Amino acid sequence: MRRFAAFWFAGLLAFAASLAALVFCSWPSASAQAPLPHASESDRSEARAIFKQLIEINTTDTPQGNVTTATAAMERRFLDAGFPAEDVHLVGAHPRKMNLVVRYRAAGTPDEKPVLFLCHMDVVQALRSDWSTDPFQFVEKDGYYYGRGTQDMKDSDAALVATFLRLHREGYQAKRDLILALTADEEGGHFNGASWLVNNHRDLVDAAYVINPDAGGVDLDNGRPVIAAVEATEKVYSDFQITATNRGGHSSVPRPDNAIYELMAALSKLAAYRFPFELNDVTRVYFKNLAAREQGETAADMLAILAQPPDMGAAARLSEDPSYNSNFRTTCVATRLNAGHANNALPQTAQALVNCRIFPGHSPESIRQQLIQLFADPKLTVKYVSDAGDVFDTAPERKAIVPPPPIAQVFDPLARITDAIWPGVPVTPVMENGASDSIYFAQAGIPCYGYSAVALERDDVRAHGKDERLAIDSYWKSLDFFYSFAKALGDE
Ligand SMILES: [Zn+2]
Repeated sequence: MRRFAAFWFAGLLAFAASLAALVFCSWPSASAQAPLPHASESDRSEARAIFKQLIEINTTDTPQGNVTTATAAMERRFLDAGFPAEDVHLVGAHPRKMNLVVRYRAAGTPDEKPVLFLCHMDVVQALRSDWSTDPFQFVEKDGYYYGRGTQDMKDSDAALVATFLRLHREGYQAKRDLILALTADEEGGHFNGASWLVNNHRDLVDAAYVINPDAGGVDLDNGRPVIAAVEATEKVYSDFQITATNRGGHSSVPRPDNAIYELMAALSKLAAYRFPFELNDVTRVYFKNLAAREQGETAADMLAILAQPPDMGAAARLSEDPSYNSNFRTTCVATRLNAGHANNALPQTAQALVNCRIFPGHSPESIRQQLIQLFADPKLTVKYVSDAGDVFDTAPERKAIVPPPPIAQVFDPLARITDAIWPGVPVTPVMENGASDSIYFAQAGIPCYGYSAVALERDDVRAHGKDERLAIDSYWKSLDFFYSFAKALGDE
């Protein structure tokens, strides 16, 4: 996943043309600061070579793909550079889905827990026939790098590998450990590396917080940076299967107890239902920032929902906007239907897939229970469907943590360095409605911040799509960002 937060946020701001000129965040841009150190020509050439190497290794979850080829190639680079073997771990649940965990050790005994950079190495399938170029060739053309993963997210994988190698080459003395995890199966597949590491190798990935470049980033409008979104929490993705069953019969003799009607009645209740209004420390900051940019009743309503207790009339008015609504509550929506077995028979089975995006702090099982209560029909079953498509009678009890307020330790350097690269761009935390690997760490109680430091034109988001590409200039900027950011975090 990449880019939903910033894209969604930008979509809210129809007036974004005027944004860059305005102070819009809790982290006002610093003025008159020292210029950032830029990567040298040889640093850049190494970073480009790593990027090219990763793009040209197919890491899709297909018979042609192999994540281990990519992670093992990076392992080789770290060992060749002189990283101690005990700090370089190639581990995983499947021979083709191995994860690489590299530890950049603090110079002395650290006072603080490590910082983890979490990067997925797999990419979404891409077909040569759909693309203008071979998706698994690194093509440089018209100021862009083309290839599957140039936006999601081999750009950041490569930039961070290059950063760790450069810090090591320069003999940088960190005050705390910095960890880089390059993982499998974020986009799909049965061997999600982030989840596997949290559950099987917590020792390798335990951290004060996680930086996940698979979200957030800088939105450009015709080359002008308009917003830098940082994902500070995300909703939990859950699918539920709703099933009505019936004895069926001949359709020439209809009966009222019809599986399709029964399912329709339940779905009608769902369509009319709103889960309770909620805010957390991230969405509070977000709506406070947004209120400063809005006008009239909308601005007043945004401030009114932040009052204690919140103004529920204002919440209801704002909830009419689907974007705001999805930030206020858990949402569930029917996305698939399947019913009946013949044109001339009463349906014996009617089934719907209901997709929920759960507000942090609630478990999938508690939402399943709420759906059962809402439907109030004991003849219906409500089952949980896992990401792998398996169906279970009950859902996981684990819930994403209610996010702590965005921490200055992360946001201060992030905003400072962002401002040095994209002067004046407002930085704001957001709640992501989609899902990334951050969720596994969030569920383990570790705060996660999603920021790619990659600037993309808002109408040129090609992650998962055809002819995926990244402006070469954006790659160099993200390289400069991660170098200074890793050092700033390592200095704390
Ligand atoms: Zn991604």
